[in-house]
Amino acid sequence: MAYTLNTEEENKEIAKRYKDLLKGAYQTFTENDKKEIRKAFDIALEAHKTQRRRTGEPYIFHPIAVAKIVAYEIGLDTTSIVAALLHDVVEDTDYTVEDIERLFGENVARIVNGLTKISHLNKEQDASIQAENFRKMLLTLHDDVRVILIKIADRLHNMQTMSAMPQDKQIKISSETLYIYAPLAHRLGLYNIKTELENLGLKYTEPAVYYNILDKISQSKEEQRIYIENFSNIIKESLDAENFKYLIKGRRKSIYSIRKKMLSQGVTYDEIYDKFAIRIIYDSTLKEEKFDAWKIYSIVTDHFRPNPSRLRDWISQPKSTGYESLHITVMGPQGKWVEVQIRSSRMDEIAEKGYAAHYKYKNKEEAESGLDDWLNKIKESLENSDSNAIDFVEDFKLNLYSKEIFVFTPNGDLKALPKNATALDFAFSIHTQVGMNCRGAKVNGKLKPISHELKSGDQVQIITAKNQKPNVGWLEFVVTARARTRIKNALKEDQKKIAEEGKEILIRKLKHLKITLSEKVVNELVVFFKLKTSLDLFYRMGIGSIDNNQLKEFSSQRNNSFVSFFKNRIKRTTKNAPLIDKDEVTENYDSLVFGKEEERLDYKISQCCNPIPGDKVFGFITINDGIKVHKKDCPNAISLQANYAYRILKAKWIDSTKQEFKAIIKIQGEDHVGMVNEITGIISKNMSVNIHGLNISSNDGVFEGKITVSVKNKSQLEKLSDSIKKIKGVNNVERIYKH
Ligand code: MN
Repeated sequence: MAYTLNTEEENKEIAKRYKDLLKGAYQTFTENDKKEIRKAFDIALEAHKTQRRRTGEPYIFHPIAVAKIVAYEIGLDTTSIVAALLHDVVEDTDYTVEDIERLFGENVARIVNGLTKISHLNKEQDASIQAENFRKMLLTLHDDVRVILIKIADRLHNMQTMSAMPQDKQIKISSETLYIYAPLAHRLGLYNIKTELENLGLKYTEPAVYYNILDKISQSKEEQRIYIENFSNIIKESLDAENFKYLIKGRRKSIYSIRKKMLSQGVTYDEIYDKFAIRIIYDSTLKEEKFDAWKIYSIVTDHFRPNPSRLRDWISQPKSTGYESLHITVMGPQGKWVEVQIRSSRMDEIAEKGYAAHYKYKNKEEAESGLDDWLNKIKESLENSDSNAIDFVEDFKLNLYSKEIFVFTPNGDLKALPKNATALDFAFSIHTQVGMNCRGAKVNGKLKPISHELKSGDQVQIITAKNQKPNVGWLEFVVTARARTRIKNALKEDQKKIAEEGKEILIRKLKHLKITLSEKVVNELVVFFKLKTSLDLFYRMGIGSIDNNQLKEFSSQRNNSFVSFFKNRIKRTTKNAPLIDKDEVTENYDSLVFGKEEERLDYKISQCCNPIPGDKVFGFITINDGIKVHKKDCPNAISLQANYAYRILKAKWIDSTKQEFKAIIKIQGEDHVGMVNEITGIISKNMSVNIHGLNISSNDGVFEGKITVSVKNKSQLEKLSDSIKKIKGVNNVERIYKH
């Protein structure tokens, strides 16, 4: 629609929109609040006066609309409304953050500053930079959650008015919205905003799909209305007899959710059976509302048979977003299963608006304490995180969307964890150290491994052991961001210690070869072994994956006549390898393993997608050509996976230096007091070795022990055996292959 207002009409329209802003806000304003809002409006109006939006409208429409979302939909305070009005002023005009602080004080200035920083971040194209930006954006969450809430409002209005944008921008902005803003809105309990962001996101990324579903929905509207009417008529009398004041309405699944379900379950629109739910919203008091919910439950199930496995009581145990409601699925009219959501009008308002309604019904501290817990968790994982930004945002997002389970501690306290959480996630949620030393768990009294997946209602007791410490394998099954970060950090610490040892070993070994370790020599070695950082080198020395022969080879290459050539090569290479000084052990994918057992098998790389080490891949068992490895996003992947699921083999690239394998060593000797301690002492001093099992028997002074350890390679195992042999009384140490 073309924009056609003349100046006079335009000024009237601006005044009208401004007035609207104050009308429907959640909070009540004092005279002083109104003055501040007016001042912010005047400054924004003046600052943006020469700017127009792409639609031709005056720019001020945008900050007013954002402030309105902030006031109506999110229900934030005056400070936020003022900041929303000013949110683009520093970014787009001559005003500085200092000006804002002088005019509106520290709080408003801090929020506007946060918003300005975020809008700078969003201009990058590269995925990893973009992810890093999201991480920075999430960091502001903890400074002041209002920054993100206003940012979400800003994004919502931009999505609502995006039709005038060029198509490539529409797609980019929409993808970003679906990627991070909608999940955030979801986690913050802004249900309405989340749904609108998702629907708009779909509209621009997959317009054909969007309009197709929209069309089908409008076709079935009448049918739905009649169904709900039939349903209502049946229970009306009983509800009225109990003097309930209530409203029965249909709640349709959003276009985006329908799309998601069609994709995830591979069904058509018509095959989705729960396209809408019936919602019964009743008036009640805080004291009576839970009792009333069950009374209505009883009435509904008097008339319709309930499905016992589909009862969800979010009233006794609200979701961590604050959502409360009682859900049942019953056999409704026409023999169709239909979900019925029973909730008081207070619960309904919280479910739709989240944050805003909390302010209305609870005192501020109570409303914020739940959010604070969550924010603290985020802050922790953000501050401790050194994973790459893309991984981090992925992990983070998983936690945003995941469904929750509730498990009990031994004392009967309740803990919320994301779905698929394991005993180890639970251990880390109790305390970092409990996680680090987690050895197993008792789940409902039964002993389970740390990778055991928990279910709602489980009672979990963690078993720890001092010797236990994290290994790479743990990352395979933990799902919480908290556990992941802690494990990754511990592994890194471990690597550093091993690298320190490795450096000493290297100095000693080079001495034998008459080479003194200097920065130059380190650089030469890094290049020689095709590594990236000096820490890589020391680490690989420490775990023994570089042996004496290889060092000799290096030494002779260094001394022969190619020296000058070699030096030149180093110069050139190091120029391209600025990573060399970086303080990390880099990933060096060198083997491909298959299946759950991570076996090494023969394979061929498929020609259609040519995966390289590090790519996400899977194996496909061909009839004549053995295993072929494809990238997960290979164009052929979907049809292979859909048609030949049984021939798909899990596959992944690993860094063999970081991989561990289990070995059993058998020790025999003459028993004496303290022998076991000496043995375990030696093992735990070897930093990269883990003990898994210890089985010792002593008979008439003859000692026999079997120890299961995990090591990274053979030379590590040999080193360990050698040190155990040195213990007084030990006669024989050998590796065995069976218990
Ligand atoms: Mn804006």
